[in-house]
Amino acid sequence: MLGPVILAASRSDRMRRFISAAPGTKQVVDRFIAGEGVDDVVPIVVDACGRGLEVTLDVVGEDITTPEQAAAARDAYLELIARLKDLGLGTKAEMSVKLSMFGQSLPSPTTALNGEPSGLADKFPGGHELALANVRPVVEAAAEIGTTVTLDAEDHTTLDSMFAIHEELRKDFPQTGCVIQAYLFRTEDDARRLAAAGSRVRIVKGAYKEPASVAYQDKGEIDKAYVRILKVLMEGDGYPMIGSHDPRLISISQELARRAGRKLDEYEFQMLYGIRSDEHVRLAAEGHRMRVYTAYGTDWYGYFMRRLAEKPANLLFFARSILTKG
Ligand SMILES: Cc1cc2nc3c(=O)[nH]c(=O)nc-3n(C[C@H](O)[C@H](O)[C@H](O)COP(=O)(O)OP(=O)(O)OC[C@H]3O[C@@H](n4cnc5c(N)ncnc54)[C@H](O)[C@@H]3O)c2cc1C
Repeated sequence: MLGPVILAASRSDRMRRFISAAPGTKQVVDRFIAGEGVDDVVPIVVDACGRGLEVTLDVVGEDITTPEQAAAARDAYLELIARLKDLGLGTKAEMSVKLSMFGQSLPSPTTALNGEPSGLADKFPGGHELALANVRPVVEAAAEIGTTVTLDAEDHTTLDSMFAIHEELRKDFPQTGCVIQAYLFRTEDDARRLAAAGSRVRIVKGAYKEPASVAYQDKGEIDKAYVRILKVLMEGDGYPMIGSHDPRLISISQELARRAGRKLDEYEFQMLYGIRSDEHVRLAAEGHRMRVYTAYGTDWYGYFMRRLAEKPANLLFFARSILTKG
């Protein structure tokens, strides 16, 4: 029951101020966030790749309120890509982006960049086009250094816009990936549409607070949906990326991949930085592609709260560390 309460708190400015200022917070945040800036994260990337892992890098900070912040988000990714260029890691280091941070979450009006009405305001309210305009140079820069970008899935109200941007980007950059969430009723259909040649799709359980009208609420139902979607992806022609720490789902994925005749480099596992790190190494040592989703940046509140919501024990640890430091 705690998960939904924590997810609700992740939208509260008062809680954000309280938690950000609490004395024990940093110690707990550091478990999940790889550092504040590019200089912190680059050595972590080098170390992970040196140990046979791969990474997808996320600059945290989805709660923007101005177009200038959206442009700054774009620039932060461009700075990261410029640094990765020197490392020559290719697809071993890719990027994950949240379109909200690129302007999708900004309120209307939806105008084209030249200021003319775009005609899309009914279909995609908010900053759909701004997000597309900001993410495109990042996808281009990633392609120039031989890697790619995956569009994260946020709450269900943003997904039509995300899939439309994904489709648009794939016209020029077919390797652009996207994420689908097993908890949503719509996702089996999305998976069928996306499981086509050349597509890269990450399947996750889903981390947002969603109403019963659009999403399974029961963990068992979500796991069953995850397996159904996995089957669609494994039997399809795309490249499945299995985003989960759940040992049962990982062994089911291996079995489904085997049954679908997929070789080890025809799918990959993905886990979050700081969670089940031994498992990252174990799967990589078995010959699997294992990509660690590595988040960094100063605006970590939303990302951190979702990690607390996923595992109530994290909350207890967090509460203890606030009390002992406070
Ligand atoms: C690479 C990656 C990318 C993701 N991208 C998105 C996205 O774009 N959109 C989205 O909605 N969600 C995303 N998520 C989050 C996802 O939706 C789940 O909330 C999260 O992965 C927890 O689900 P699980 O599959 O690991 O299974 P669970 O059943 O939640 O966890 C299985 C086990 O993993 C461990 N574990 C899981 N979470 C934690 C945690 N926070 N702290 C400590 N241990 C933990 C525990 O041992 C737990 O028993 C992503 C997850 C991963 C791994």
